[in-house]
Amino acid sequence: MSNKRFTLALHGGAGPKRGHDYGVEIAHMRGLVEAARDRLAAGAGALDVAVETVVALEASGLYIAGKGASPNADGEYELDASLMDGATLRAGSVAALQGFESPILAARAVMERTPHVMLAGEGAMAFAREQGLKEIADPATWFTQAGAFEDNRAADRPPTGTVGCVVRDAEGRLAAATSTAGVFGKLPGRVGDSPIIGAGAWADGHAAVSCTGQGEYFIRTAVAAQIAHRVRFGGESLEAAARAAIQGVAELGGHGGLIAVDRDGEIAMPFASSGLKRAALLPDGTIVAEAF
Ligand code: ASP
Repeated sequence: MSNKRFTLALHGGAGPKRGHDYGVEIAHMRGLVEAARDRLAAGAGALDVAVETVVALEASGLYIAGKGASPNADGEYELDASLMDGATLRAGSVAALQGFESPILAARAVMERTPHVMLAGEGAMAFAREQGLKEIADPATWFTQAGAFEDNRAADRPPTGTVGCVVRDAEGRLAAATSTAGVFGKLPGRVGDSPIIGAGAWADGHAAVSCTGQGEYFIRTAVAAQIAHRVRFGGESLEAAARAAIQGVAELGGHGGLIAVDRDGEIAMPFASSGLKRAALLPDGTIVAEAF
């Protein structure tokens, strides 16, 4: 393939409510893919585009991340995010972060401005403040609680929602970014897969992956790294690897979905859930945007 064949995919979370009209979200996701495509055409790098896209998803208030976040069982907003740069294997993440508009920017700062990969809780908040990241003025009015109506309210299926983006840029570099409020009604201090490198996000020279769904199952099966390793060490196609990994989640009783891109620019977006809000720029240049 041409080295210039950049592609990307983004998601706005698994578990959409059946019968609900996601026209606004689909139009929004399509617009973000178009904006990302234009940035990539102008030579922007995979990591920058993945982060910019997730910042926009967080800021929209349409998904259960950033401004759209849902509270935990105590009514507090504890957010998780991570990113990974496939070209360098550098990664950054924050867990149980409170009080900041963009968890993904905090994760990027951890990667770029500390010797660490992950900061959690009070330490993450102190670091974000020190970095001058934008604080939420009034949490009582800022959050839209986009997911208040989302599906999967059955007792064994806590409603979920997350945002993410995976990118292959014109130089063939891969990157992944994921941001979430986690599952509804989670226990204070609960951390899901989204900030766990290798579970909710992964990027190396072979594949980049961002996951959504019941995080506990994604941690237990290391979904994001598993896909890249199936491609790299098992010689599987991206599609086969992504399907096998999501099947592993389903076999344990979990639900969710993921987006993935490989070094050839192929895209996979399987889900074992009511649906997956997702959009992608495919290798042939077409854009798809769907919820079910
Ligand atoms: N995976 C996220 C978590 O478990 C939730 C989601 O994707 O909806 O925290």
